[in-house]
Amino acid sequence: MKSVLTYSALNCFRNCPRKYRLRYIDALRRPERPEALAFGSVIHNALEQWYTAGAPDTRLFDVLDYIDAQYPAREHDAEIRRTWHLARAMFEGYAAQYPAESFEIVEVEKEFNAEIRNPDTGRSSQTFVIAGKADGIVRLDGDLYLLEHKTASSITSDYLDRLWTDTQIALYSHYLRELGYPIVGVIYNVLLKTRLKQREGETQDEYEQRRAELAAKNKSGRSTAKRQLPESDTEFRARLAEWYARPEAFHRERIYLSEDRMALLTEEVWEITQQYLDAKRRGRWLLNTSNCFSFQRPCEYLPYCQSGFSSNVRDNLYEVAPPHEELTALTVSAATDNTTF
Ligand code: SF4
Repeated sequence: MKSVLTYSALNCFRNCPRKYRLRYIDALRRPERPEALAFGSVIHNALEQWYTAGAPDTRLFDVLDYIDAQYPAREHDAEIRRTWHLARAMFEGYAAQYPAESFEIVEVEKEFNAEIRNPDTGRSSQTFVIAGKADGIVRLDGDLYLLEHKTASSITSDYLDRLWTDTQIALYSHYLRELGYPIVGVIYNVLLKTRLKQREGETQDEYEQRRAELAAKNKSGRSTAKRQLPESDTEFRARLAEWYARPEAFHRERIYLSEDRMALLTEEVWEITQQYLDAKRRGRWLLNTSNCFSFQRPCEYLPYCQSGFSSNVRDNLYEVAPPHEELTALTVSAATDNTTF
């Protein structure tokens, strides 16, 4: 039986072999999930429901019910309530923006596993298969495209340029082609995350201070300023709805995939598997410290690496969690004997 390799694992090993070992062999993970990731997952799952729902009349209600169920603590936590408002407003805006699609849905959350091949001989790897899950496959003007959902805080030309460097999607396209889906490109379905916040209003002290400052500037020595009250849920929802009614809140970008690029990527995959086998054989998992602060935040293993791999730090900060959680047990067990890569 072969070991399963996901794009996340592959990329992790390429970025920092030590991080790969900690995540995929030692199976260590920080217990908490970053808020942005949790929000992205909720929207992602909501989109999956949206595109698989049978009844068009009720699917928005079903998706909103799903979103409500993800934020049970919203009555007691202002930040969670804001995120809940945001998720609902985003989806209501999405439903209004795309009441009907120009493409036909072919697959949703398509899981796959495929052979990794030696680019020189064409022979399959005896050690690995690659597994992944595509958000969707759609047909547009007679051609097949991957559909890839993204949430983003802004869409700049840099952001759009970076989509071109999305190696994961190019690789998925290659392997899905091998499985009989002639993918010609990718449609990125981008949903913008607004920075609007619910106004908190002033405390009595803040109001008194502001009023005193305004009065001091006034010749009469008085001010008619009124205390700013917290924004109600209804007012905040109205502002969010207005924001998400703008066409710019959503964006679709179509990118075509060149054969040359696909060939280069599959060579890279093969090369990385060879480097991995070498690292495993020699028991050497190099630390790539230039990767410790990628993505504008420290690597989750930074305290452990900094401590010189202290067992105290490991036991206090990390839990053991199985890798490849993005795939169902079915795909992983079909592809592997549960040996982690
Ligand atoms: S902290 Fe740096 S060296 Fe350690 S695993 Fe993360 S990226 Fe690698």
